[in-house]
Amino acid sequence: MKQVYIYDTTLRDGTQREGISLSVADKLRITRLLDDLGVAYIEGGWPGSNPKDAAYFEAIQGITLKHARIAAFGSTCRKHSQPQDDENIRALVDAQTPVVTLVGKTSMLHVTEVLQTTPEENLRIIYDSVRYLKTLGKEVIYDAEHFFDGSKLDPHYALQTLQAAVDGGADWIVLCDTNGGSLPWEVTRLVEIVRAMFPETPLGIHTHNDAELAVANTLAAVQGGATQVQGTINGYGERCGNANLCSIIPDLEIKMGYYCVPEGALRHLTHLSRTVAEIANLAPDQHLAYVGKSAFAHKGGIHVAAIRRNVDSYQHIDPALVGNEMRILVSDLSGRGNVLSKAEEFGLDVTDAAAIRVLDKIKALENVGYVFEGAEASIAVRLYREQSDYRPLFTLIDFTVIVEDRRGRGQLAEAMVKIDLEGDVIHTAAEGNGPVNALDLALRKALIPRYPQLHDFQLADYKVRILDGANGTAATTRVLIDTQNGAKRWSTVGAGTNIIQASWLALVDSVEYGLKIAYDVVNV
Ligand SMILES: [Zn+2]
Repeated sequence: MKQVYIYDTTLRDGTQREGISLSVADKLRITRLLDDLGVAYIEGGWPGSNPKDAAYFEAIQGITLKHARIAAFGSTCRKHSQPQDDENIRALVDAQTPVVTLVGKTSMLHVTEVLQTTPEENLRIIYDSVRYLKTLGKEVIYDAEHFFDGSKLDPHYALQTLQAAVDGGADWIVLCDTNGGSLPWEVTRLVEIVRAMFPETPLGIHTHNDAELAVANTLAAVQGGATQVQGTINGYGERCGNANLCSIIPDLEIKMGYYCVPEGALRHLTHLSRTVAEIANLAPDQHLAYVGKSAFAHKGGIHVAAIRRNVDSYQHIDPALVGNEMRILVSDLSGRGNVLSKAEEFGLDVTDAAAIRVLDKIKALENVGYVFEGAEASIAVRLYREQSDYRPLFTLIDFTVIVEDRRGRGQLAEAMVKIDLEGDVIHTAAEGNGPVNALDLALRKALIPRYPQLHDFQLADYKVRILDGANGTAATTRVLIDTQNGAKRWSTVGAGTNIIQASWLALVDSVEYGLKIAYDVVNV
């Protein structure tokens, strides 16, 4: 099998995405995750650009990696200067990485308008910078910025810049679609031309997603003979993003027969994608190919019936290959088969008659504003309640919530909860930073003496959506609650015209799911 070397630039190009800011500790965590996946190169940052990246390169020296080589990124030296006198080049050397990735100008437009120098001086800059870093024993990856656009403008000059890097001793030439507007067939053709011209130097590809083609262009470059692929986890990057490695790696391995990461590592891809999203403080995109929560989710009744007969009938790969899983969505479209599949998924034994009862309830609840997609724990709880030996954890007697805004004291939210816990009446009160928080705390206070496991359950996310906006404050409110305990996370839903009541329903489902289904806590 032929190898394609994966070069990750999440920590440099990926952080150009709006809304991402990674601390040094975040970057080190992501580095370890990428190394565990087994990528060949990790670009840590641009040491000349900011002190945080310089701190990262200092910290990374104390860490032994299993697979990846760390690269520092920077540009060729300034015009009319020598690399050894150039501040940016010095920062690259000081980063003490085994690999340096140098970006240089390829397009005549950028040479004359942006760099404002002569074509000859640009060639000298490229040659001298690569040469200098080679004399210091670095592996040098040369990123030819705007290669594809530059080739359209002045193909002869674009190739001359590559020649300068090759003459300087570059170990790799990486062709960049910096503006992200190229088309796959153009990419294949140009990669083939470059490959024929420099048969001794391996080629790489760096694409952006401005025409929704970053992944396609990357695969097209590999078709043309590129053996290094640059990209980011989840496609994070400036504007519309970089090439998404979470799609490219499985495309190359599963569909094209290339070898990218060590044997068995592909199964960690889904976990890696979601963990990097969490570290970047972005909600994981449910609809990502291969690794998204919806990537193997089935909703239509006919699809689900077919999937129950043959699991491959409506999915392109076995989701387990990338560490993802198939999900059957239960919604008003669904049939009894969806409900039975869900029961199987949760390990619950449910009769056909019970499945029909649950389906009827789900349909009725969806009529009043519930949505069960993305709130699977609420379905599990409903299936669970249909079991013959079901006993509720507790029954609510009353709750009261008071919200006040008092002069001098500011806002105050307090909740009182009265429940029946197997014959005992428990009455608790708690203050919170808002009414739902107070209600959550009061309920926990009532239950924790009996179920200490609740200590470890955290409210991870709380989303409110107003349905039927025309009714103003009388509109229906849907509440989605995510609860977390370590790596386990589950979602529940509640709906109604009263936001507190809707929240209470979602809270009760969350507690019941967590204790009874996720952790199988037995009533004592
Ligand atoms: Zn880029």
